[in-house]
Amino acid sequence: MAEENEIVTKLLNGEMKLHEIDKYTKNVGEALNIRRKFAEKISGTKLKHISRYSLNMEEAMKRNIENPIGTVQIPVGLVGPLKINGQHAEGDFYVPLATSEGALLASVNRGCSAIKASGGANVRIIGDKMTRAPAIKAKSVSEALKVKEWIEKNFIELKKAAEVTTRHGKLLKIDPVVVVGRYIYPRFVFATGDSMGMNMVTIATEAALTLLSHKTGAHVIALSGNLCVDKKPSSLNLIEGRGKSVVAEVIVPEEIVSKKLKTTPEAILEVNTAKNLVGSAVAGSMGFNAHYANMIAALFLATGQDTAHVVEGSLGITTAEEVDGDLYFSVTLPDVPIATVGGGTRLETARECLEILDVSGSGKVSKFAEIIAGTVLAGELSLMGALAAGHLARAHKELGRG
Ligand code: NAP
Repeated sequence: MAEENEIVTKLLNGEMKLHEIDKYTKNVGEALNIRRKFAEKISGTKLKHISRYSLNMEEAMKRNIENPIGTVQIPVGLVGPLKINGQHAEGDFYVPLATSEGALLASVNRGCSAIKASGGANVRIIGDKMTRAPAIKAKSVSEALKVKEWIEKNFIELKKAAEVTTRHGKLLKIDPVVVVGRYIYPRFVFATGDSMGMNMVTIATEAALTLLSHKTGAHVIALSGNLCVDKKPSSLNLIEGRGKSVVAEVIVPEEIVSKKLKTTPEAILEVNTAKNLVGSAVAGSMGFNAHYANMIAALFLATGQDTAHVVEGSLGITTAEEVDGDLYFSVTLPDVPIATVGGGTRLETARECLEILDVSGSGKVSKFAEIIAGTVLAGELSLMGALAAGHLARAHKELGRG
């Protein structure tokens, strides 16, 4: 205890840094307590909730967190049954969603109910890749074009060099290779198995670049040159796709639209055109949808995905059509970077949520992708129904304001 107080004092005096505590303590728990005491001292706040957790912090510190002081808790709930007619996910699913946004689960649940009453959501994966695009510099534009040509002619050599670093990562193509001034941006496109793959493709691309620099003399300015495009909204990802690209669709009979969503197919069509298509175009938005990010964020938090990728998962286009008086409704998500292996999926609560869906571990990521798209479809359908029926304000007043 005396030692603990001594370290806290050193931290307060600036004589020790937060990350140095681990060197002077017996175990992770002790270091964590000291760091938390320091946070309590500087803030004058008792951190009694942050201090309570059941995660194995020693394991988490190997890959998931530095300088831990505890955990934050986010309520997690369940929606469903969500009926999915996919290639990898087939049947009824109960989906865990973590959020502090009242009304979200109630709304997604209503969408699940409408989808089930309509026979289920058809879901298909239309693309699957992870990308890394370094920024490379040549002496002149003509040299830059030579480097581009070398990359195009030596794909097999670059592929061999990249794949030495991983069992599951496969370099599919290097496309596009963009030249700007004397800079070159080759977009390395990989298949990454059940992992989200960012670490995997970063390590593999670095190995390929060692070969490229050696053979061409080109200078690698940065391993990531932002044409990847990682964790930023981008037209490139909207068009080309990144992570899993998935479509979910449903035909909702007119009577189900009326009974469950309290509106009409025509009203939903009009809201989709005015809001998701025209409104988004006027705004220069890349998300031609109502709120994909809500379902993506809640699913990512529950299942240990990289939450910064919510920005990519928010991209996509919702379509609504009238078919013989019924409602055809679809969501297209071009950019959903997800994993059932690696990253945060190894944390205990994440693994439990993945297990609720039976998508924990190897061989499960495609099933997971289809469930995610089905959940987004449910949430999108419900909100569009609420907007069409003018219910939105009332639902938020009742459920979000206690
Ligand atoms: P990872 O945990 O670094 O790599 C996945 C690991 O799982 C690899 O060692 C892979 O082995 C192994 N593996 C076992 N079974 C597998 C299977 N069935 N499919 C695929 N891999 C399997 O995770 P990652 O997905 O590459 O990277 C995710 C992490 O990167 C997240 O924590 C994220 O926050 C972070 N991140 C990094 C960057 C960056 O620039 N470095 C950017 C954004 C996010 P093999 O490699 O031998 O196949």
